[in-house]
Amino acid sequence: MNVLLTFDVEVWCRGWDHLDEAFPSAFERYVYGRSAKGEYALPKTLEILNDNGLTGVFFVEPLFAARFGRQHLAEIVGLIRDAGQDVQLHLHPEWADEVSPPIIPDHRVKRQHLCYYTLDEQTALIGHGKRLLLDSGAGTVDAFRAGNYGCDRNTFRALRNNGILFDSSLNACYDISGGDLRDGPWRFVPSELEGVRSFPVSLFADGFGKTRFLQVGGCGFREMREVIENAAAAGHQELIVVSHNFELLKANSSRPDPIVVRRFARLCRYLGENRSRLPTARYSECQLSDRSAAAGRPRAGRRATLGRHVEQLFRRF
Ligand SMILES: [Zn+2]
Repeated sequence: MNVLLTFDVEVWCRGWDHLDEAFPSAFERYVYGRSAKGEYALPKTLEILNDNGLTGVFFVEPLFAARFGRQHLAEIVGLIRDAGQDVQLHLHPEWADEVSPPIIPDHRVKRQHLCYYTLDEQTALIGHGKRLLLDSGAGTVDAFRAGNYGCDRNTFRALRNNGILFDSSLNACYDISGGDLRDGPWRFVPSELEGVRSFPVSLFADGFGKTRFLQVGGCGFREMREVIENAAAAGHQELIVVSHNFELLKANSSRPDPIVVRRFARLCRYLGENRSRLPTARYSECQLSDRSAAAGRPRAGRRATLGRHVEQLFRRF
């Protein structure tokens, strides 16, 4: 079973009212996360991956650079590529009304999710994002994740129009994700959609039967390990784990969150030790397979989920 360790990489300025004043410190936090303990945003994430010989897929949001300058995007892409890791496209179209010249004619009102845009608009936005990444040294861009998982069927058509043939946007824990794709299995299993290979974010049943998705900030290490083992035994061919460039940091701070750092380090050590059985991969290495579609939803045990609840309590205090 391939494990896809995916990181959505984005920069936010705490609202939209004072973008230019807020950007420099936001960029520092989201990209480097400097504190007395080290740089726990991208640099530490990349270091932990590489120390364990793992491959990560970094879905980088480029539209912010249409506002603030491509050198900032090139800096992010350079950090990731210098570490030997994979850069792919993430897109938050809520930047579309903040950039000039405009990317689409109807750009005056902010629209958050990609599924709020027409096929032509999605094609233009994705194409612009891909060009920004390529011009910033990204190499090959062949995989995509929509911001907030807010894709629809047109997203897959727009991806094909742009020659991006892998997608990992669907997340059935989000209502906005694939809203017009509910009458088929697409939101739950890997499948071909409009000529694009779709690998939804992996879901699991936690120890109390609740459906969750595999995110480093929201699952305990034992839960993740049990779900990975359970999915491999059930015949899944790939497992998609989600994280972010800022996930090792405390909320609204550049200080590391020790619980999440430890959790991520343990996950990476475990995957490194089991590399031959559970290789970390890029999307272009994944095939669609009937075995994955037929395998049941993996689960975590009750003790593992209880452990996560205790950890989350500690994080809160
Ligand atoms: Zn995002």
